[in-house]
Amino acid sequence: MFAEVIVDIAHTAVDRRFTYRVPDELPVAAGHRVLVPFGLGDHLKEGFVVALKDESDYPDVKEIRKLIEPYPVLLKEQIALAEWMQEAYHCLFVDALRLMIPAQMRGMRIREKKVRTVVVPDGLDVTAALETLKKAPAQKRVLELAAKIGAAVSVPDLNAFYPNSTAAVNALIARGYLAENSAVVFRHPKKLTLHAPAYELTDAQNTAANEIRSALERGAGDVLLLHGVTGSGKTEVYLKAIEDCLSAGRQAIVLVPEISLTPQTVGRFTGRFGDRIAVLHSRLSAGERFDEWRRIRFGIADIVIGARSAVFAPLERLGLIIIDEEHESSYQSESQPRYLAGEVAAKRVRMQNGALVLGSATPSLMSYSRALSGKYRLLTLPARIAGRSLPTVEVVNMRDELLMGNNGIFSDRLTERLSECLSNGQQAMLFINRRGYATFVSCRNCGYVLKCDNCDISMTYHKTESRTRCHYCGAVKPLPKECPNCKKPFIKQFGIGTEQVEETVHRLFPSVRTLRMDTDTMREKGSYENLLSAFHRGEAQVLIGTQMIAKGHDFPNVTLVGVVAADTTLNLPDYRAPERTFQLLTQVAGRAGRDNLPGRVVLQTYEPNHPIIRFAREQDYVGFYHYEIMERKKLLYPPFSLFIRIVFADRDERTAERACLDCAKSLESELRAVLGEEGRQDLLLLVAAEAPIARISGFSRYQILVKLLRTKRLRDAIGTTAAFHGRHREDCAEVQMEINPQEMF
Ligand code: ADP
Ligand code: ZN
Repeated sequence: MFAEVIVDIAHTAVDRRFTYRVPDELPVAAGHRVLVPFGLGDHLKEGFVVALKDESDYPDVKEIRKLIEPYPVLLKEQIALAEWMQEAYHCLFVDALRLMIPAQMRGMRIREKKVRTVVVPDGLDVTAALETLKKAPAQKRVLELAAKIGAAVSVPDLNAFYPNSTAAVNALIARGYLAENSAVVFRHPKKLTLHAPAYELTDAQNTAANEIRSALERGAGDVLLLHGVTGSGKTEVYLKAIEDCLSAGRQAIVLVPEISLTPQTVGRFTGRFGDRIAVLHSRLSAGERFDEWRRIRFGIADIVIGARSAVFAPLERLGLIIIDEEHESSYQSESQPRYLAGEVAAKRVRMQNGALVLGSATPSLMSYSRALSGKYRLLTLPARIAGRSLPTVEVVNMRDELLMGNNGIFSDRLTERLSECLSNGQQAMLFINRRGYATFVSCRNCGYVLKCDNCDISMTYHKTESRTRCHYCGAVKPLPKECPNCKKPFIKQFGIGTEQVEETVHRLFPSVRTLRMDTDTMREKGSYENLLSAFHRGEAQVLIGTQMIAKGHDFPNVTLVGVVAADTTLNLPDYRAPERTFQLLTQVAGRAGRDNLPGRVVLQTYEPNHPIIRFAREQDYVGFYHYEIMERKKLLYPPFSLFIRIVFADRDERTAERACLDCAKSLESELRAVLGEEGRQDLLLLVAAEAPIARISGFSRYQILVKLLRTKRLRDAIGTTAAFHGRHREDCAEVQMEINPQEMF
């Protein structure tokens, strides 16, 4: 018997199947991790067995030395999934395999946890034994407790009950009153359990849940898009769908964005399904993650709730994958392999005969267009539960404020609403959607935004150069002294910070307590949860934050949401800026009035008539969709096209620049060749230029940006580009390729 082994070394040169002989005494199966001699010195390396075969093509093969774990760590489906990823994401096979197991298992950096357990031996006369312990009270109470438990109990548990009992336990073992053993235990991450009654579903919820169940029964890998406004009961539909899935003997994965993977979210699922839940997220310790993963692998847990990478959880009877807030950018991996969790999930449910549910109040344009074209099945929850209304949105024109002589960052309306809210003893959230590194240039008088002539993308102000730059094509413009539109001298770079907002609140309402949440205040582990729960307990009346506070939290006492500057993300130099702004505004507005108190939103903007702001005010997703998809079509942005970016980075600027410019020429001719005469128009753009962030930690960066029309030739064009990238990886210190990069910077 022979095994095909992928050696656990991430290098192009060794990313292929090596054949090893399987010794007779080793029960090797596909999916096992093994130790194999590798290379010249026959050093032992870890590897994954991906297939078994009866014959070897070579006469002389080495032998597998050892199984690392006694069980196969990979399911057959996972091996097939990794093979597919290798093709789909142009990554190393081993990189895809590595995603399937907790990182610390590699290099054997994490082990099972064993604890000493003791048990009262069968046939011991406990009453008689206790009689003999009258002079040894510590031993007596330990034996009493162990007898009461009547099963094996761990020594740490006994110590938790009666501190410092180890000596007593040892004495009892010596007397033969306790028998000793050791057992493998699972380190359970703390999970909050919230009371989660199963509601009588509304008609709309029932219809959605039934559709999901039928799709699951069909088992054809259907994708369903559940579109429902915030608070319309989507989570309740997920819970019902999971119940149905479990009753059919299948298992489920629920993905939520890392940032909303709060105790509250998990608690609702644990409240319903108890121990059948396993969680996987970045705040687990290595041991907890390993143990949760094994509970899944051994079939002890049937439901996995986790962030992006939980899509790889080893569930053998997987039926249902649910992706909540499917539009979130955190579902795209930022490191190699740059996979999209939604794509991987779709592939998995096809392979395992299940169904995929994508849920959102603001689906991505891509998903919604697929739903409209019939590729996905569209399910709609049109209203909030129990007749609760969506919050009222007031739009305030900040230009008018300026004309009235208010040049502060709060409009009179916002101040007024805030004062109302606070005097009613309610809470408020103030939100600024700012990203530190991007500042656009706009006119405070007329709202004019400085844009690139080629790209219709706002120019970014670069402080160090004192000029503006287009992050798409690299074009530069000086910072104008006056507004090109209204000729007034009010044009300037724009950007407000959370601190400024906090100061303003304190100045206006000196006695009010505030909490501030942004990347600066959230450095420490756990600070995120602590701050949210403090706000939940009412320890502060106002929560101020960036996009972090927009997601999934349920604060029943919040009745006011203030969006201090709604247009900051609108003018980011990114074609997705309108979509992201609409999503953010809708999400953040959804934080107001979740409970019985009606909610209000004050939205401050310099562009009150911008279509995106109007759709956000009406909370009209469908209107927004039809508007924005036309915009994308006009400029041939995705989903009508696709971007590929190759970044060349090197400490030596000339090296990076030359590598980039040389590659651009040959890549262009290769692409033209593969697209052929018929595909002449497919290559919409291929530009080589200094990257928008020209230097990062001492490395100079240049980039090739390719924009391709989405046609049947796209696949070949991507393949050609990936192969090209493969051949030019060494042209300078770092050469990275990204398909549809999340950030164009
Ligand atoms: P979403 O996930 O769409 O934001 P949720 O599922 O969280 O919505 O539901 C919003 C609120 O309504 C929650 O407090 C939930 O417990 C409650 N809820 C959901 N479905 C029902 C129902 N059928 N009957 C009564 N209350 C419900
Ligand atoms: Zn441009």
